[in-house]
Amino acid sequence: MAYISPVNDQLFMKLFTVRNPKDWDSNKKELKNFILDILDREYNQIFWSLVKSLDENEIKEEEEKKEAIKKYIIGFFEGKKETNNFAYAWYRSQSQNQSVLFIATSIEMKDNLESRYDLSPMFDYFDTHYDIKFCVQRYATEFLPLNRLDENLEFFNYREFISAKDSDINMRRTCSERVIFDNLIWHFYRPRQLYEKPVIRATDDLEIKLYTEKEPCLQCYSMMISLKNEYKNNLSLKVYYKYWLNEDMKLLARFNRQVEIFPEVPSEKALKSMASRQRQRGTIYEYERIPQYIEREKKQQQSQQQQKLKQQQKKQRQQEEREKNIEQQDSRARPQSKMKLLNILPTIIIPAFLLLRFRKK
Ligand SMILES: [Zn+2]
Repeated sequence: MAYISPVNDQLFMKLFTVRNPKDWDSNKKELKNFILDILDREYNQIFWSLVKSLDENEIKEEEEKKEAIKKYIIGFFEGKKETNNFAYAWYRSQSQNQSVLFIATSIEMKDNLESRYDLSPMFDYFDTHYDIKFCVQRYATEFLPLNRLDENLEFFNYREFISAKDSDINMRRTCSERVIFDNLIWHFYRPRQLYEKPVIRATDDLEIKLYTEKEPCLQCYSMMISLKNEYKNNLSLKVYYKYWLNEDMKLLARFNRQVEIFPEVPSEKALKSMASRQRQRGTIYEYERIPQYIEREKKQQQSQQQQKLKQQQKKQRQQEEREKNIEQQDSRARPQSKMKLLNILPTIIIPAFLLLRFRKK
C-alpha cells in the first residue's frame, strides 16, 4: 500500500469514464473480468496451493475450490435480487500518495470475516497487490450518521432510536454506499473509539468518486452530504449513478427522447385522435403517447384493408357461385329443351301432315 500504481490508477480512472449511460455496465464488466483474470492467473500465489505437493484428489479439490471462488466473484458483481445494489468508490490522495478502489455489494456483509476464511486470502491479496478493497466486513464505526426526516423535512440522526424490528431502516445500514464509507474510514483512519471522527490534516487532499448502480437512498444521501459539509476543505466527493448525465449525455438523452416520441412522422388522423384525447383528459403530456396513436392508426388501417380484402373475396366467391349456378342451370335446361321439342314436335308435325294429306284429297 501507500503508493500510486500507475497501472491500477489507469483502470480506476477508466471506471469513471463514461460517454453514455451504458458505459457504466461495460466498466463494471471490465472490473469484474480484471479480477477474474487475476484470480485465474495468480490463484496459486493467492492460496499457496503449490507449496505442498498435491496428489490427484487434492488437485481436483483445488480446481473445485477455484471454480467456487470464481462463482463467488461473479455473484458479488451480479447479485441475485432486484433490490441488490453494487457500488465502487475510488479514493485518491496525492498528499498521501494513495489510490484505492473500494467495491461493495449490498448482499455481502459480514460482521465477522472468520465465517469466510476460505475467501480472506483473496481479499488480502487484492488489497495488497492491486489496491482493490472488497468491502465485505462491517466495522463498528458509529461515526457515520444514520439520518431520518423530521416533520420539517430536516434530517436528524436516528441511530439511537433504531428498533431491531424496523426492517426498513436496518436495510439502510447495509447500503453499498454506507458500507464503502465505513470501510474507507476504517482503512485509512482506524478509529479506536465508537464515535471517533477521522483525523484529517489541513493539508490532506482527498478525492472520492463513487459510483452506485441505484440512485442513493435518503439515508445515504444525507450521510454523504454531511461528509461533504464536514470535510469541505479537504474532500472532493462526486457521486454517480446509472442515470447520471453529463452535458453531452443530456444532449443525447434529449435527442433520444424526441426519437422515442416521434419514431416517424405521425399521420394526420393519429394527430387528430391524440388531440381529441388531450382535450378530453386535459393533460398536455398526451403527445408523449404519440407512438401509441401511430400504432393504433396503423392497426386500424390494416384491419380496414383486411376487411376490404375480405369483402372483395366474398364478392368474388358470390360471382363464382352465380356463374356455377348458371352453368348448372344450362346443363339441366338443355335436355329439357330437347324434351320440350319432342313434345312440341307432334303438335306441329301431325297437324301439318294431316293438313297436307287432306289438301291432296
Ligand atoms: Zn442507501
